[in-house]
This record gives sequence, structure tokens and C-alpha cells, in this order.
Amino acid sequence: MNGSECSGSDVAQAAGMPRDPAFLASLAASLLDDGGMALVYLDRNRVCRHADPHFAAALDRSPADLIGRPLAGIDHPVIVALATAIAAIGESPAHGSAPVDCPTVDCDGRRSILSGSVIAHRDEAGTTLGYLGTFHRTGDPDRIAEFVTCRDSFIATLLDAAVDGIIVSDRSGIIRSVNRACCRLFGYEDSELIGRNMAILMPPPFSRDHNRYIDTYMRTDRAKIIGIGRDTLGQRKDGTVFPIHLSVGEARLGEEVTFVGIIRDISERLAAEQRASYLARHDPLTGVLTRTAFLEDCEVLFAGHRGDGAARGADGGMFALFSLDVDQFSDVNEAFGFHVGDAALKAMVSRVTEVLPPNTIICRIAADEFAALSRVTDADHACTLAGVLHDRLTASIYADRHWVRLRLSVGAAMQDDAVGTLEDLNAKAKLALQAVQHNGGNAVCFYTPEMAAAATRRMMLTMHLTHAIERNELRLVYQPIVDKAGRVRSAEALLRWDHHALGPVSPGEFIPVAEESGLIVPITDWVLSTAIAQMSAWETEGVLPDRVFLNISGQQFLRGNLTLRLEELLGEHPSLRRHLGLEITEQAAVRDLKVAVRTLGELAQLGIQAAIDDFGSGYSSLSYVQQLPVAKLKIDRAFVIDVPENPKSNALVRAAVGMAHGLGLTTVAEGVETAEQRDFLVSVGCDMMQGYLFGRPMVPEALADMVRAQAAPLAG
Ligand code: C2E
Ligand code: MG
Ligand code: MG
Repeated sequence: MNGSECSGSDVAQAAGMPRDPAFLASLAASLLDDGGMALVYLDRNRVCRHADPHFAAALDRSPADLIGRPLAGIDHPVIVALATAIAAIGESPAHGSAPVDCPTVDCDGRRSILSGSVIAHRDEAGTTLGYLGTFHRTGDPDRIAEFVTCRDSFIATLLDAAVDGIIVSDRSGIIRSVNRACCRLFGYEDSELIGRNMAILMPPPFSRDHNRYIDTYMRTDRAKIIGIGRDTLGQRKDGTVFPIHLSVGEARLGEEVTFVGIIRDISERLAAEQRASYLARHDPLTGVLTRTAFLEDCEVLFAGHRGDGAARGADGGMFALFSLDVDQFSDVNEAFGFHVGDAALKAMVSRVTEVLPPNTIICRIAADEFAALSRVTDADHACTLAGVLHDRLTASIYADRHWVRLRLSVGAAMQDDAVGTLEDLNAKAKLALQAVQHNGGNAVCFYTPEMAAAATRRMMLTMHLTHAIERNELRLVYQPIVDKAGRVRSAEALLRWDHHALGPVSPGEFIPVAEESGLIVPITDWVLSTAIAQMSAWETEGVLPDRVFLNISGQQFLRGNLTLRLEELLGEHPSLRRHLGLEITEQAAVRDLKVAVRTLGELAQLGIQAAIDDFGSGYSSLSYVQQLPVAKLKIDRAFVIDVPENPKSNALVRAAVGMAHGLGLTTVAEGVETAEQRDFLVSVGCDMMQGYLFGRPMVPEALADMVRAQAAPLAG
């Protein structure tokens, strides 16, 4: 050691601490404690007086290689950095320490950064005695750099891969960074956004509000939106506005505040929600409202016009509710398939829209049932509309390559002072619809107060009719059917109901009630067995007419088990087969032509004759009739009633008789009341006649008397 050098104990003494090198070593050991800290001490001449194994290892040396050597004699970048730091401290009392950061490779070949500082060791007078260097090894600089680079690009990739727009702004709302999705969402380049106020991405009034929120935030340091997502609107560069969901987070780093906004385009979600709510309120096939939605919308409209309770609103108009029902719509589906039925329903809706005034609310109540609420000027206006509606909807519809003609029943009700609520109006339109259907359908009917009474009566009749058979209230009467010479050839059995309290109820009234309620099935069965029993009795008495015709309702006829039931009933009376006839209406036969043809064929096999009843009152299509295996055509009373005075009726009856004969059918005219009618019918070749002129429907004994009274024996 030369004179300028001092030992480790000198240093310790100068610092006022024990000078013992063992003390220094233990101090260094406890300081470092294997924590990766490296320590070196240099005297004021920059000669290394102490180097711990960590420091030596960082230089890929041993402590012995360093201790006692001047810095200038050691060739290592750490030593160069150390010397530079010491030079920076210099002698100036103002500088007590200097940082040192230096990459290094240690004896294991590990790369690390030696990072720490050099402290000047001075005595109380400020004289520099030496320098203490303390360092940490902070790992591989390349790996750190690589990590930082990777992390940044990882984050950048993450942000850019995000589907949501991510936007970072400072506390005053100035955009600091945006991800790719954000640029895509708003149609900007990132350079066009960075440095601009966030409000640029919002339409008014949100842009204005945003600036106000920022002002409040700056004053109060409180932002309401943090942590709470909200649906709002965004504005693209091209000015278009779209719905977004915005959630905002706040990051604080000391005084610095950064907002991170996550923006999601919710156009599709909203569209899906709107679609779902549309589907909940609209019929998917026709697009009109569902029943519930219709009632809701109508109620609002109705309440809006109700005013002081008077029927007429401020606009001088009133509401009309139309209730529409296609008669036997299932026939269309069965005949042409559901696709044609669907197309017909769509066409119906577009015709309703066409005919009724704008702002009419339309709904589909059931498969073939619709309702429409319109504002009309007065009752006449409503009548005209209902008429046009019926005409348009019953005109041929070209549906999926088929021409379809619908029969439509329209019930309508007008708002008047007695109609307080929509339910009232609805109930009245429904009653009017029932009235139309009850009278054969395919027409328009406006509500009248009598309809409510009629509906109540129908309900009451249904109730009583249920017990009619067990209470023995039903009976059959027979009306003679005569030939041109006036001789009774056959008879028609007609049902009578004598209610114990209501008295006689006409079949015109109770048969439709029985059909609507399904009671027609047990009733028909009763008719069949009662008539066959009667015929058997007549046969025994020798007064059985050629044929006894029974009326079969369409429903019963198309049910399919009629033949079986008749076979069963006639099993005990096989001889009656060729004396039995069934009357079915033209409508029933046409409703399901296939079933009708099959059933009539089966009946013919049994020897049972069939007649088309009320010909002319329905579709009146001989092209249908000619496909049916029937023997007789009964011309409806409506035609007979004004012959021979009405030339048109004359022509129609003449044509019907002519065509029936052409098809090999026998004709029967119904409702013949006068000798003039009889003479005309005979003159046009009508084969048989039935009517009050020859005999009213009568009890069986009376008919037997008539038959018996006929001088000539009956032909087979
Ligand atoms: P329908 O089968 O056309 O029967 C003829 C109707 O015309 C009978 O009415 C009969 O009394 C009436 N009539 C006959 N001649 C004359 C006449 O000269 N002038 C007038 N004004 N009327 C005449 P009714 O008995 O009231 O029966 C009405 C309808 O009820 C029948 O029409 C038929 O459709 C139905 N019906 C009657 N009995 C039965 C039945 O047992 N089953 C079914 N399903 N329907 C029945
Ligand atoms: Mg009949
Ligand atoms: Mg008839």
C-alpha cells in the first residue's frame, strides 16, 4: 500500500464507525444478504479497497482480482461506468451520489444490468475519503427489452383484435389513442381522431352533453358514467348516427387521469330486439297485428278520440269495427294445400288495407279471422266500406298459381253513444258476425240490438237442446211429395222440437244451433232410428211410400260413419233400403267433393237414394252436381215462389229441370203453394212437387191416411 492509500479500517474510522474490516464484511454481508446486491468500496484515489463476491462476479472476476487495484488498471465496462460516476461526483460537496447503470455478463455467462449508485464517503469537514458503490443486478436487458416490446405489441394486438372500439382519452376528453375497431366503427383514420375531443364521435345533443359532463368532472372530479355502461348514439365521420353501448373506466396514475371507453355497435342487437318485439305484436304470415297488440293499439286510439264521451270525435268521425271470417276456409287448405291458403290470406290482408281508410288498424284473430278498426265519417260511410270490403274479398284471388274464391262473413259495429269501450264495440261486431254466419254466411251484417237477444236465445236453445232427446221433446213429421198427377209418391221427414216451456221451436232456428254446437250428431242419429222405425211400421201397415227422405246435415254427412250407422240400423230391415232417401244440401256436398262422392257411392250400393236439397240456394253449379252419384235434384223454394209471374224465375226453373234431366236426374220442386205454380212446373217437365198445396208436414198417421186414401196401388 503506498502513502496515499488507506486501509478499510481507516475508512471505518473516518466515518466514525468501527474500523475493523471484519465489521465491514459483516455489514456488507447483512446488507447484501444474498439478495443480489453488489458492493464495492474505493478509496479517494480510486483504488479498490473492498469488492464483495457479487460485485466481483458481475465483472466475471474474484474479489482478490480487484482489491488493491486502481480502477484505471481494471478493464471492464462496469469499472468505466463507475469511474464516470465518480468523476461526476467529483469533489463538489453538492454532489453526494451518482447513478450507475451498466450491462454486464457475469462468470456464469448471465447477462444482466448492474444498476445502482455511487455515494461519496466524506468526513465531517466534507473531505472525500472514498466511494461506496451499491448495485442490484436487474436481469437480462435483452429479455427485458424483448418483454417490453412483446408486451406492447401483445397489448396492441389485443386492442386491435378487439371487436369493440376502444378509445383512450385524458381527463379533458382529448383522445389519446384508439384501436382499429374504433376507427372502423366511426369511419376515421386514427390520425384523424388522436388529439381531438371525444365529442366528435357523438351526435347532438350528446356531443353537447359530453362537454358539459367533462366540465363537471374537471370541477368536481366525479364522473357519473364510470363503471356504468349505457346505451347512447354514436356519429360516424359521414354524419350517420348509430346506436352504441358505451362503458367507461378510469385509470389514475398519480395526478394523471385517463379514461378508457369501450364502444359496442348495438345496431344488430337493437334490430334483433325490435324484430322480437315485432314478432310478439305481429302475425308472422300476414304482418298485421296480433289480437293482443290490436286491442292495445285500438284502446289507445279509442281513448284518444273518446273526448267528452260523445260518439263523434272532434274530427266529426266515429269508429267502425269490422269482424271478418272466411266461411269454411279449411276447404281452401284441403283442396289446394296450405301454401295456397297462406297466399290467399296474405292477398286478403292486402285487399283489406286497400279498401279501408288509411290508419285502419288490422289484426289476425285466428287462422281465417280478421278484425279492422277504421275511422269513418258516418254510418253510411261504414256501410259502403263494408260492402266494398265484401265485394273485394270475395272476388277471385290468384293465390300461388290457383284461382281461389272465398266466401266471407263480415260483422260490423259502429261506435255510438251506447258504446263506451272498445270491448263493447268488439262484442257487438262479433255478434253481428255470428248473425251473418248463423244466416248462412257470405254476407255483411251491422250490429243491431236484436242480435244480442238472438245470441242469448241461441245460447239458451243450445242448453235446452242438450236435453231434448231424453225429455222426448223431438218428433218427426212427414210432408208428402207428389207426382205430376198429384199422387203421393214419397215423403220428406222433418224434425220438430216442442220444448216443454218454450213451445214449438222451428227447425230453421234450432237446426243451425244444433250444427254449431255439435248436437246435430246425436239428433241425426235419433232421426235415423225414429224414421226407420216409422217406415217399418208403415211397411207392416202397407202404407209405406216409395221413398222417405231424411235430411242429413253437412257436418254429419262428411263425418264418415254415416254409411256404417245406416247399415247397422237397416240390418234388421233390409227391405227398407230401397225405400230410404237422404237429402243433403248442395253446399255440404260441394264442401268436400271427394268424401261426398265416396259416401254417396256407398249409400247407392246399399240401395239408398240421395237427393240434392235446396238446389239453387248455394253455389248452384251443375258441374259439381254431375260428379255426384245422386238421383234427385230438389229445386229451392226461392225459385218456385215467383213462378209463373217472374220470367227470370221461370227461365231458371226451366233451365234447372232441363239440365237435371240431361244428367239423368229426377226433379222435385219445393214449396209449391198454388195451382199456378203447379201448372207451370208440370208444363216445364218437373217430375215431382212438394208444398202446402199438396200437404203440410203432418204426423205419421195423417200421411198414412193420405197414402191409404189413394185409389190406385203405389208403384215400386
Ligand atoms: P228443407 O229440407 O228444405 O225442408 C223443406 C222446408 O220447407 C220445411 O221447413 C217445410 O216445412 C218447408 N215447406 C214445404 N213446403 C212449403 C211451402 O209450400 N211453403 C213454405 N213456406 N214452406 C214449405 P221446415 O220443416 O221448417 O224445415 C226447415 C229446414 O230445416 C229444412 O229445410 C231442413 O233444412 C231442416 N231440417 C228439418 N228437419 C231436419 C232434420 O231432421 N235434419 C236436418 N239436418 N235438417 C232438418
Ligand atoms: Mg229437405
Ligand atoms: Mg229444401
